[in-house]
Amino acid sequence: MKCVDKNRRLKVMTNADTPRDTLQAIKFGAEGIGLCRTEHMFFESSRILAVRQMIVAKNVEQRKKALNKILPMQRKDFEEMFTVLNGKPFTIRYLDPPLHEFLPKEDSDIRSLSKVLGVSYASLIERINDLKEFNPMMGHRGCRLDVTYPEIAEMQTRAVIEASINVKNKGIRVHPEIMIPLVGDVKELKFVKDIIIKTAKEIMDEKGVKVDYKVGTMIEVPRATILSDEIAQEAEFFSYGTNDLTQLTFGFSRDDASKYLNDYYMRGILENDPFAHLDKNGVGKLVEISIEKAKKVNKDIVLGICGEHGGDPSSIEFCHNVGLTYVSCSPYRVPIARLAAAQASIRAKQSK
Ligand code: PEP
Ligand code: MG
Repeated sequence: MKCVDKNRRLKVMTNADTPRDTLQAIKFGAEGIGLCRTEHMFFESSRILAVRQMIVAKNVEQRKKALNKILPMQRKDFEEMFTVLNGKPFTIRYLDPPLHEFLPKEDSDIRSLSKVLGVSYASLIERINDLKEFNPMMGHRGCRLDVTYPEIAEMQTRAVIEASINVKNKGIRVHPEIMIPLVGDVKELKFVKDIIIKTAKEIMDEKGVKVDYKVGTMIEVPRATILSDEIAQEAEFFSYGTNDLTQLTFGFSRDDASKYLNDYYMRGILENDPFAHLDKNGVGKLVEISIEKAKKVNKDIVLGICGEHGGDPSSIEFCHNVGLTYVSCSPYRVPIARLAAAQASIRAKQSK
């Protein structure tokens, strides 16, 4: 692997949401976290109740009260992750899924939740129905949640910055990189970024400690790729979320396409699964357009990928060839990603 690392240019980061996965990935050679899906921390049984209280809240005050219960848990998660990372970059992606994913589906569970939350069964059902969407993956998720509920971004920023300060005070270096999901317009990014900057400043002034943090975005909506020259002016980094970008570019649901993709292979329409191997002709083209536009306005922008393709050798070769800085993949894919990055670099040199 020393030989591999000498030959690769791409950095290899990991997608991890727990200290255990982070440690495993570092043992495999990961150079930091490229994607921490914070919602995975919300799903834990010990905290799901507070999350549900936040969702059924009838007004901002009630919502903030519930968020205040989540804050110490999220801050503790981040402190543990920063400690394991010991100075390596930590890309923290803000809440992404539609809120209905946090609510129970079975009637008996809804009934018991109504008792625990102290709300009537009828009003809980009403809230659950309110949150139902015909196309949840194109629904009220990603940065759209922060547009409706800015207090969620406020709480997550407080958790990131307070955790950074606490860990920094113990003499451990921290590199938080805050990542906003599902941005399609620069004004969405700016809206959330302003909340982050304001909240972070308040905390740093209050504690008298400065934290160097970055704010960037995922590029996973096709519109964001063609408007990357606008978006890059407000972002310090882009991470290509090629799971959603593939879904939205093909218009194939990432959860259901496997039901019919075999017919596409059989009839020679597609050669393989675009969710596993990056579609260079379509999705890849959008990534290339985005890179060119972003670099034109922001030559220092850091560009990476954190979709499943970040651990796939043929997609990694594409990432090398288009000049990305890093790929991020699940912990067990880190060694193969390092190897694929070196092979891509050697092949590119040989073909020159
Ligand atoms: C993506 O869309 O590629 C991504 C990494 O985000 P998620 O899979 O969490 O939607
Ligand atoms: Mg996504």
